[in-house]
Amino acid sequence: MLQLPIKDVIDKIKDKTGLSKDEIQSQINSKLKSLDGLVSEEGAAYIVASDLGVQLFEDVASGGLLKIKNVLAGMNNVEVAGRVINTRDPITFNKGGKQGVVGSMTIGDDTGKVRVVIWDQRVQWIKDGKLKEGVPVKIKNAYVKKSNYGGKEIHLNKRSKLVVDPEGIDIPLPDTKGSTIKSLIPQERTSILATVVKIFGPRFYMSCPECNKKVEEADEGHVCPTHKVVEPNLQMVLNLVLDDGTETIRSVAFGSTAEGLAGLSAEEAQEILTKDGETILSEKVNNFLLGKKIKLKGMMKENKAFERVEFQISNAILNPNPKIIALKMMKGE
Ligand SMILES: [Zn+2]
Repeated sequence: MLQLPIKDVIDKIKDKTGLSKDEIQSQINSKLKSLDGLVSEEGAAYIVASDLGVQLFEDVASGGLLKIKNVLAGMNNVEVAGRVINTRDPITFNKGGKQGVVGSMTIGDDTGKVRVVIWDQRVQWIKDGKLKEGVPVKIKNAYVKKSNYGGKEIHLNKRSKLVVDPEGIDIPLPDTKGSTIKSLIPQERTSILATVVKIFGPRFYMSCPECNKKVEEADEGHVCPTHKVVEPNLQMVLNLVLDDGTETIRSVAFGSTAEGLAGLSAEEAQEILTKDGETILSEKVNNFLLGKKIKLKGMMKENKAFERVEFQISNAILNPNPKIIALKMMKGE
């Protein structure tokens, strides 16, 4: 089944019929109600579209080269072109005694970005620098999966074609100026400018001073899986909800990044927690951070413990200078 996000379904119905978003949403709601839990909201939206004679997948059915925004999870034999935005170093894995290697890159055109996963000898192209930033590529016979991290992912197998610098097509440069939350894709290091709309925590954990990994408490003391018994460091975790006008997203910061965002060191924060309690601590952090507009570097990642995708913050600039940001955006940084 092809997967088109409900927002896109509503937009398409709106474009084709002239109905307002509210009218469409209320038709979806009554369809949901009449089918009494038999379909999801997305399913109900597909039915409403079909009732109104709106073809959702016309771009797809016509075949040929797709724009990246029209690439959807569930598609086979996809043909798409774009320019390499970045690549990730290949990883060797072991599955059922067989060794394999997987690499990936992000490509983009003037309509969007998508991650491309490469499973075969072509990962060498990443190592060799053949697939470097800005290089135009064309992909044929690929399939599209829903990614573990949310969103869509193009997969190349042995039957797929990957042509570097294809002839006869002009691929526009992707829009790589500062990302919006809506345009975030998994596993891509990027920066966003967003407002903190909700704060959870801070919470704390103990980490290994050697490798920064979480340590377990045992009878013999704090134990790192690699470095055994260690004298641990106190670390802070901060969960935030961010909004930039395009979408809202959950995010998380650890260690010194969390401390910078909270305006308190982990030790200070824990002292307040012990002395004055959780309400006072969260009030203090809220006063410092809530409503602030921040420039954040990070990556969309899967949080396995909570089975959700969130933006993991690696760096935060609390007082972004609008002039400098505008200059950097113009230069495409
Ligand atoms: Zn360690």
